[in-house]
Order: sequence, then C-alpha cells, then structure tokens
Amino acid sequence: MKIVSTVRCDDYSREKVAKSVAECIDLLGGLGKFVRKGDRILVKPNLLRASPIEKGVTTHPEIVFAISKLLQDHGCNVLIGDSPGGGTPYTERALRKSYHAAGLDAVAKELGVELNFSLEYKNIPSPNSRKIKRFNIITPALEADAIVNVAKMKTHLFTYITGATKNTFGVIPSMEKATFHSRLKQPDDFAEMLVDLNELIKPRLNILDAVMAMEGDGPNSGKMRKMGIIAGSDNYAALDVVESKLMSIDPKDVGVVKAAIKRKLLGDNFEDVKVVGEEIENLIAKDFKKPKTYIGPMPDQGMLWRALASMAKSYAMIPVIKKKECNGCKECYRICPQSAIAMRKDRPHIDYGKCIRCYCCHETCPNDAISLDWKFTGKLMKRLVK
Ligand code: SF4
Ligand code: SF4
Repeated sequence: MKIVSTVRCDDYSREKVAKSVAECIDLLGGLGKFVRKGDRILVKPNLLRASPIEKGVTTHPEIVFAISKLLQDHGCNVLIGDSPGGGTPYTERALRKSYHAAGLDAVAKELGVELNFSLEYKNIPSPNSRKIKRFNIITPALEADAIVNVAKMKTHLFTYITGATKNTFGVIPSMEKATFHSRLKQPDDFAEMLVDLNELIKPRLNILDAVMAMEGDGPNSGKMRKMGIIAGSDNYAALDVVESKLMSIDPKDVGVVKAAIKRKLLGDNFEDVKVVGEEIENLIAKDFKKPKTYIGPMPDQGMLWRALASMAKSYAMIPVIKKKECNGCKECYRICPQSAIAMRKDRPHIDYGKCIRCYCCHETCPNDAISLDWKFTGKLMKRLVK
C-alpha cells in the first residue's frame, strides 16, 4: 500500500507550517523511517526561476525551513539545492539570485545549513529506463544519501500538473532541460522520461506545498489559489495521484500517473493508494482552474480519436508574443529547444513551422509577455470533446 498523508495548514506562519509538516511526516511513520542520523540530505524545492515568493511559483521558504529543521534535529546534514528551470543558466550567480528570490538564503542562514553552489554534474546510466537510458544529474543529488523532494502544487501547460514527479526534473542541469523537449515532443513521452528519472534517483520522501497552489496557466503564469494543505508520501507517483484529485483533475489524464500505471508502479484504479490524515473529499477544490492548453478528456478509443490525438500539434495552442509587454530580454530565445525563436530588432519572432508547442517560452518569460492562443482547429477540437 502506498500511503499519502494530508494535513491542513491555513497559512505560511512558521508555527502552523512546522506543526503541519511534522504531522504529515508522523502520519507516514515518522522521519526515522526515511532517514538516519548522519545522513547527507539534499532538500530539493521547486525553484523554477527567480520569482518573488508571493507569486507562488516556487516552494514557500517556510515549508523548506520546516522540513530542513526536522532533518537537522534528527541529526542529518542538510543541503538545500536545485537546478532552476531551463531559462536560467546553471551558474553560481543565477543560483544565488534564485535562492534569494525564493527566500532560501535566509532559511539557510537561520538554520546554519548549506545551499548548493556546486555546478558539477555527471552522466549516469539508467539501464532500467523505458525512454531515456542516460541522464546528466547534478552531483549534490548523486552524492546525497537521500533526496527529500519538496514540490509545489501547480498546474502545468505541458505536463498538466507540476507535482512530486515533475519536481525532480530539477536534478538535470538547467539549460539541458529544454533539450528533452526536442527529443520528447509528445507530453506522454516526456512523462515517461520523468518516471525514468524518478525511478533512477528515487526520492526518499516527497512533501507537497499546497498551502497556496497555482491554478490556470501554471507553472509560471497561473493564479494563486488557497488550498490550505500539506501532503506527503514516500511514493512520488501516489502523491501526484492525490494532488490531481485535490485539483479536481482525473489522475488518469496526467501523463506521469499514466506512465506509472503502465509500469505497474501504481494499481490501475489506485486501489493501492491510501490517504491518511484529513479526508481527501473535504479538501478537493471542485472549481480548480485547469491550464488552458488542456482540451478536455479525450475518449481513449476509436481510430478517429487516436488519429486526432496523434495530430496534437495541428490543434494545440500557439505561443504569441505580446509586443507591449515584451522588453526584449531574450529569455524565450535562449530556452527554445527548437531554435524556433529569432531576435529581430531586439524583439522575438516565432517560426510556427519549427515550434513544437512545448510552451517553455511561456513558462520562462519573466514579463508574462507570451500568450497562448487557440488556432481554429484547436477551437474545433475543444467543441468535439465536449
Ligand atoms: S517575450 Fe518575454 S522572454 Fe521573450 S524577450 Fe520578450 S519579455 Fe523576454
Ligand atoms: S517557440 Fe515553440 S518550441 Fe520554442 S519554446 Fe516556445 S513553444 Fe517551445
């Protein structure tokens, strides 16, 4: 049985977060079940980009503080680290900026724990993978005795949700992340790769910051939504099942969950996932806003539907530059895995023939200057699935 604990937490006050995180872990059997005294632990938050705490793009520092303090009190050596999203270079300067924006430099200083500034990574074989057989992984993740994965509840325009499984993508060095979109253009293939990665690095414990979640067009441009929940599990996929349900999303529509079911890491109908703590029915946000790239539940049968699904690019939303908001910072140009964006007169232009609809540009734009618009075929498809 895969246990997922759910605990209420009204806000990010230190006292409430500490109590809820401790309760969440106790419900799973206590910290001693996952780590030992003297272990070197990488605490891995979501540091998508250097974004202010109040925008809710990154894991809240109080959650990182609470889990790091518990680990420290248990006698573990804590290192906080992440390689931010693909638009951020993996440099000491960029890391410093990301840690500062997310409030993690203050957390590290107060607790006397380390922040990772090593820029090294190693190429590691992953023989049991289904999709990707080798990964470049940052050394702090490889050298740690265990990884504690501290994810943020958010929607995602490409993978539908950002949860525990997606959060560990941060162990891949920053700029390399976008290259996976060129290699794995379909969301389901990308999801298979994420499960490969999680099976390789096996995070020991996963904690979900769902006190304030992001709904709509996450993981960067959505809206904050109060959920008042902290959840945890030693099973990343089971935690994503529960996260999806809390967001009123059918877990079977989520690529990483589908991939986990295919590999028998989860039962077909989640009969092996048990929620302890607060009743999940009391916590579900029935009107949680989905990302607008989501067409709707696609019927999983029939040749016509399969053919339509295989032509996703022809109806998927397209990124459009909002000229007034764009300041020409070039972040979209740098991250595009297809080199589909050219800078002309200091402004980006998208070649839609090359664009694979990965939405990395939208995810990385610091000025919300890229909208996503339906093409005629997309509008038609949306009507068909209703
Ligand atoms: S669209 Fe956004 S990321 Fe691209 S250059 Fe303009 S402001 Fe920068
Ligand atoms: S232009 Fe297209 S391919 Fe390039 S980052 Fe944006 S969505 Fe992805």
